[in-house]
Amino acid sequence: MASITLNHVAKHFGNKVAISDIDMKVEDGEFLVLLGPSGCGKSTLLRMLAGLETATSGEIHVGGRRVDQLPPSARDMAFVFQSYALYPHMTVRRNIAFPLIMRQFKWWFHIPLLGGLAKRRIERSPAVSELVEKTARTLSLTEMLDRYPRTLSGGQRQRVALGRAMVRQPEVFLMDEPLSNLDAKLRSAMRAEITRLHQRVGGTFVYVTHDQVEAMTMGTRIALMRDGVIQQFGTPREIYTSPANTYVARFIGTPPMNLIEGRIEGGMIMLGEVSLPLPHALAAAARGAGRDPVLLGIRPNALTLAAPGGQGQLTGTVSLVEHVGAESVVAVKLSHAATAHDEEGAVPGEIMITTQGYSELKAGDPVSVVPDLSEAVLFSRSTGERLR
Ligand code: ATP
Repeated sequence: MASITLNHVAKHFGNKVAISDIDMKVEDGEFLVLLGPSGCGKSTLLRMLAGLETATSGEIHVGGRRVDQLPPSARDMAFVFQSYALYPHMTVRRNIAFPLIMRQFKWWFHIPLLGGLAKRRIERSPAVSELVEKTARTLSLTEMLDRYPRTLSGGQRQRVALGRAMVRQPEVFLMDEPLSNLDAKLRSAMRAEITRLHQRVGGTFVYVTHDQVEAMTMGTRIALMRDGVIQQFGTPREIYTSPANTYVARFIGTPPMNLIEGRIEGGMIMLGEVSLPLPHALAAAARGAGRDPVLLGIRPNALTLAAPGGQGQLTGTVSLVEHVGAESVVAVKLSHAATAHDEEGAVPGEIMITTQGYSELKAGDPVSVVPDLSEAVLFSRSTGERLR
């Protein structure tokens, strides 16, 4: 069993709070993604799990055993870094076998000839070579076992690094942005490969990334972090459909969820001059808002463009059109309603709409926007928390 439990874990660097009081349970066999922007503390959290950083306070348990006082080598976890950190003078076979060789380390391994012979003996022993070959088969590296890292592509090197982590058959795999040095195409291939690896070898994976696509496609659950605090801990679907707050809502999804300012009146939501009936699913959340201003969270694909003039439609002017292959992204500056996108570069009053196919619209065109509220969410304007 390799569930991971964190109780009140915090990490301070002097006055800087990198991790602030985290409680979290990762189930055995889960693929947890720690997601968040640069500096949010995800690497620090991973490094504390690995034992490369000591927690300022709190406890970490793996499989029921307290590990936060143990050195990295006693934690039965494998760590895969962003840089592959392969030994350039060793073959792929030796690189993969290395953790097993070091398990039997003797001081005289350092003596050039004697050490070399001893390492080779271990590497060629049936137990070790069988494990190395099995690992190589899992990662399609069999053909490359006798090559050196410099003769491999980036993706192949990353697979060797994974092989070196796997060969010890650890219960927990910790990965810190392992794909960020690869180009876009290779990254998507390796994404699928790591997911398959998790399905094949089992084990508990904790994976750090700032890439929401990696998180959504690979994670069984995601911990979305900001400033050392977990904003939401849930499945990719929960995080996408029911974001806990406006930060999560805007972090996940491309283009991000639109947040349109509104007021609740009876069973209706007023967005500027337009009044729309709220679906049943939002009625309870709306009652909770009382007379306070709300934000309507609506994904760009739940908005449809129409010719101006219809009832119950938001009006605005096209400010930008981007054609992205099978769909177009249309930015519309609303005439009467306001938005609450507080990131850098966000234009006040502008919403994003995705449409199928090639949009013939151009900047300056007047348009109407028809919202489909069936999957919309409501947030408090003042706290940013989702109303439920
Ligand atoms: P990135 O994606 O850029 O790696 P991150 O989310 O992994 O970011 P961390 O590396 O965990 O972030 O850093 C969290 C915060 O702690 C940052 O503000 C960082 O500057 C600070 N920090 C990390 N390590 C140290 C250190 N050794 N000394 C002082 N501050 C540190």
